[in-house]
This record gives sequence, structure tokens and C-alpha cells, in this order.
Amino acid sequence: MSRSHSPETHADWQALAASLRFEKGLETRAFIDDAFVAAVGGETFATLNPATGETLAEVASCDAADAELAVGHARAAFEAGEWSRLAPGKRKKVLLRLADLMEANKHELALLDTLDMGKPVSSAMGDMAGAIACFRYQAECIDKLYGEVAPTGEEALALVLREPLGVVASIVPWNFPLMMTAWKVAPALAAGNSVILKPSEKSPLSALRLAALAREAGIPRGVFQVLPGFGHTVGKALALSMEVDCLAFTGSTATGKQLMQYAGASNLKRVYLECGGKSPNIVFADCRNLDRVAKHAAAAIFHNQGEVCIAGSRLLVENSVREAFIDKVVAAAERMQPGDPLDPASFMGAIVDDTQYRRVLGYIEKGREEGARLRAGGEALEGPGLFIPPTVFDGVTAEMAIGREEIFGPVLSVFGFDSEEEAVALANDSVYGLAAGLWSQDLDRIMRVTRRLHSGQVFVNNWAGGDQTMPFGGVKQSGNGRDKSHHSLEEYSELKSVWMSLIP
Ligand code: NAD
Repeated sequence: MSRSHSPETHADWQALAASLRFEKGLETRAFIDDAFVAAVGGETFATLNPATGETLAEVASCDAADAELAVGHARAAFEAGEWSRLAPGKRKKVLLRLADLMEANKHELALLDTLDMGKPVSSAMGDMAGAIACFRYQAECIDKLYGEVAPTGEEALALVLREPLGVVASIVPWNFPLMMTAWKVAPALAAGNSVILKPSEKSPLSALRLAALAREAGIPRGVFQVLPGFGHTVGKALALSMEVDCLAFTGSTATGKQLMQYAGASNLKRVYLECGGKSPNIVFADCRNLDRVAKHAAAAIFHNQGEVCIAGSRLLVENSVREAFIDKVVAAAERMQPGDPLDPASFMGAIVDDTQYRRVLGYIEKGREEGARLRAGGEALEGPGLFIPPTVFDGVTAEMAIGREEIFGPVLSVFGFDSEEEAVALANDSVYGLAAGLWSQDLDRIMRVTRRLHSGQVFVNNWAGGDQTMPFGGVKQSGNGRDKSHHSLEEYSELKSVWMSLIP
């Protein structure tokens, strides 16, 4: 693929997609100890394009033997110290070089995510900007973090040092393949760890391309490795390994719970979890511009086909404006129909795979059966691709499955409320606590409600606002970790206390 030509139109992206060659140049094998290799067992799995149903490539399917190999190399690299003991400023240079290489290859990386999981290419390009910014931010942070000198008397000098953990296994989902990878891998590498990445079996391709770029950037052998494969095989093996010091996970709450058990059953490794959500988006009647709010409320759920951990999937609207507001949301949703992911004008793309497609349609059916009022969408589009239009249900209650469970698709559940008290109670009535939004002009109310929301992040008069400076993560069953910002570096380092007695 030419790096000089920047694709802009639908035809440009189609041409680029047609020029991809997995058998020549683009890797589909595992990346272990600085080399692309077949899985030890020789197994492969097919990765499909959900927009067309076509097989893109056969990818190495790693298992326990591959995990054991990679963990051995990761540990050896860590002990050798070529990366773990390298001065932070030098690690920074290598990571900045990697970010530059990602920038130079961003169209190809975006295309891989689009083809692999169906997201619109314009959205994938946004992910690339986020992933590159994350590498740059974490690289820039690492040589600006100081340790501490404790306030002792003259008889001692007491130091609090920050040291890398050792071997970090990053297990990531498919909805933002490269961006979720960056949020885990960039701080873990910056802090000096050896990192083993297990991408989702539904979107392994960009992670393998990243491995090639990491090698080109000068990350030493064994320090960054990529093991494609399934959760119950290679993922489980990494999670149970006695030589992995930390599991950094993004994915479903069910898998997160499983990983904590694996850690308890093995070596008590640290487990950082970024899990699911059912995020409330609260609209008060005092908003000045309800048209604008409705557009944002629709985008909050329909962006990335609703396959977003922080999707604003529960819309809580004050009853005095509810009917009129839903009309505006439905009108906005009309303009967000799914289309070919390679068309930069498409707002939504295809659902990642058949399992997820059936799951989403199953919830839509359940919503109808439970008596919610369908206001938009509700029927899948004609194949061959897996496309579901924006779907809006009104009259949802907290007892309904579509009101409680994470659907992870383009389905919006609308609730009504009459008072601030009721809105807060509805918002907090969830096992999840990843994100929450509120829209109001009343500053007192904004502060009152913000403090009372059980949520890792609150968006006021916006949805999904944030940049690299802000931690990202949840409370309750949405997890315990924080990606992004300098706080994420804390997760990938140990504090070592050193008490030095000063002989008078
Ligand atoms: P998932 O839990 O099915 O899979 C996530 C990863 O875990 C994959 O790589 C998978 O192979 C692996 N895995 C599955 N079972 C495993 C096991 N037993 N042992 C080890 N690894 C295992 O989730 P998914 O369907 O890929 O992603 C969707 C979920 O991710 C949603 O719930 C979404 O909310 C969540 N998510 C959360 C965030 C966040 O920041 N909180 C961000 C993106 C996605």
C-alpha cells in the first residue's frame, strides 16, 4: 500500500482495501521473541469481514504452549534489563518513534480494524488518532515522574522508588481494537514492563501490524509480543500463568470475574479490569437547546454501532419534555443509518459477528415482548452484511432486560422521570458504573447530581468528552482500573520503599 496517497473518498478506501495482501507482507502469525511464527500446534482461525461475510485471513491460533513460550521470553527480557532498566528518557524515544511509525501507517491500521470488525473507516481513523496520542502521551510522561523522599528525621534517608512490575499480559476486546491496545500497552511499556498482548479473536489484525512496527521502532526482543487466539485457550493460559505479574483487561464483566478467579487460583497477580456498562444519560427539561442535546444523545448510543463500553444506552428524560425530545432523537437517528464501513460518510457500520448480531436482535425481540414501545428501527437490514439500524424503545423500565443488561449494539432504552431525586435513583439502579451524562443549564443541579452519580466518569453537557489527560474507567461491576493519563502508569509499577540508616 502506498504511504504517500491519503485515501479520502469511498473509492479510495475500496481501492486500498483491495490492495491489502495478507499472504504477502501483512502478518497473520503470532509475534514471539522478535519473530512472526506459526502457533506451536499449527492451528489457525478465520477472521471475517462482517460487512461482506468474506474471510479476510487465517490467523495463528495460539494456545497454552505459545503462552508458555512467550512468557518465558518476556521474563528473560525483563531480567536482562535492556528495556526494564533502560533510562526512561531512552524508552521515551523508542515509544515516540513507534508513534511516528503508527502515524505513517495510520490508514492501513485503520483499514485493518474496519475490515476486521465492521466499524466505519472515519471512526477507525479517529481511533488511530487516539491510539497514537496515547503512545505519545505515555512516552512523554515517563521521564517526568519522580519518586519520593519520605519526611524522616536526620538519622535516615527514606526513598519511595517506582519500579516496573515484570510481565504484563494485556487482554483486549474487539470494539476499538487498536485504541484499547494502546491504552494498555503504551503505559505498560513506558513503565518498563515486558508486555504480551492478546487481541480479541474477532479483530486480531491491527495488533499484528503493531508488532511489526514495534520491532521497527526498536523495542527489544521479548519486550512486546502478540498472541492471537481465543480467550478460553491462550487467554486463560496467560491468566493462569505463574510468571505473569499483571493482567490488564478490557472486556465483558463476565470475563473480568473469571480473570480474578484465575489470579486467585495462580499467583495472585494484579488484575486491572475495564468492563461493561449500561450508562445513563440524563436530560433535564431546563436545557436551552434540546435539538442539540437530542443529536448528542443519539450519537452517544449509535456511534460505533452501539458497540461502545460507554454507550449512553439508557436515556433518562424529564417527562415534561419527553415526547417531544424522543421525536428529536428519532429524527437524529434517521441520519445515522448503517452503510458500507469503507464509505467515510457512513455513521454506522456492520455488527462485529454473527453471535453479536443475533444477541442484539434477541434483545430487540425481548424489548417488544416486555412491552416497551418501539419508536425507531427494530429490523435488521438485508444481508449479506450484518447491519442493524438505530433502534429506539420508549417506556422502558428497570425491570426489563433492555433496561438493565448491556446489549452492546444500536439499541436505545428511554426512561421517563419527574424529579431530580427519581433521575438519580434510576441512574444508579445498575450493577454497572462506567459513565453517566447529564444535560442541564442549572449549575447547582449539575454539581448536586454529579456528586451523587455512582460512576467512574461524568459528562456534563456532552457525551464522551475527554482526552489523554483524563483517567478512563469505572466503578462497581464496570471494573477497577484506570486507562489513560499519568494515573495509568501507576498501575504498571510497584512502589519500593528503601530505608537507609545514616550513621552519625
Ligand atoms: P470478552 O470479555 O468476550 O472478551 C474480551 C477479551 O477477553 C478477548 O480478547 C477474549 O478473547 C478474552 N477472553 C474471553 N474469555 C477469556 C478467558 N476465559 N480467559 C482469558 N481471556 C478471555 O469481551 P468482548 O466481547 O471482546 O468485548 C465487549 C465487552 O468489552 C463489553 O462488555 C464492553 O463493555 C467491554 N469494554 C469495556 C471497555 C472499558 O473501558 N470499560 C472498553 C471497551 C469494551
